[in-house]
Amino acid sequence: MDRAINPKDGLVYKIDEWLKLFSADQSGLCIVCGNKLEVRAESTVSTTTHFWHSVRGSNCPTIQANSTPYVNLLPSEEDEANALKVKSDFTQRFYEVFLKCDLLCAGLKFEEFKELVELANTKRIWYYRDLTLDFLPYIFLTLKKFSSRDSRFRDNSFYFVFEPNLKSYNELWIDKKIRKKIWKVESVTYSEKVNGVSKDKRKQVVTEYDIDSIYPSEPVWVTRSRTTIQKLINLK
Ligand SMILES: [Zn+2]
Repeated sequence: MDRAINPKDGLVYKIDEWLKLFSADQSGLCIVCGNKLEVRAESTVSTTTHFWHSVRGSNCPTIQANSTPYVNLLPSEEDEANALKVKSDFTQRFYEVFLKCDLLCAGLKFEEFKELVELANTKRIWYYRDLTLDFLPYIFLTLKKFSSRDSRFRDNSFYFVFEPNLKSYNELWIDKKIRKKIWKVESVTYSEKVNGVSKDKRKQVVTEYDIDSIYPSEPVWVTRSRTTIQKLINLK
């Protein structure tokens, strides 16, 4: 992992800042599970200095081997009437749900989005009691892992997780203690010069997002292209 919380001030620091400000012996806390993280020095040419969960048996979902327990569950009781409402809202506003998924998940193609909808159908996501449209984009994002091979607008592969205490999707809106956050766990490959030679290295980057009910009004590429358009027409 590329960042950790300093328990002394509660702030999040990236590994390079950590090494400058503190010592490599100082341990931190994981932003996802809150467990202890230690600095692990560069051990091979392909891995950089990073934080790792030094506690055995950590249930942190940022560790690849930990599956997300809620993904294979079905609703324990089904709410038919609410499902009909959510499906109808979704049919009307699926473009907003798409935009929100795309905001967190670079280069989402409609084909992939359709796959998410099909997965949601298989896992009967619509039928959770008291589910609202606002939770759909986040639940959708946890339904599969996103590969860099599936979109040319995506540089890295990644997956999304909720906090490790979450056992079922409906705890997101039932359990007040569950943090309203989602994390993107990304495997980033980059080049670094080692003794003048360019080497491919890999690091895990974890990005935190709030779960909210704000929908983007336009696709990410439109927002990003606005400066290009301004330059084209000489608008300062
Ligand atoms: Zn963790």
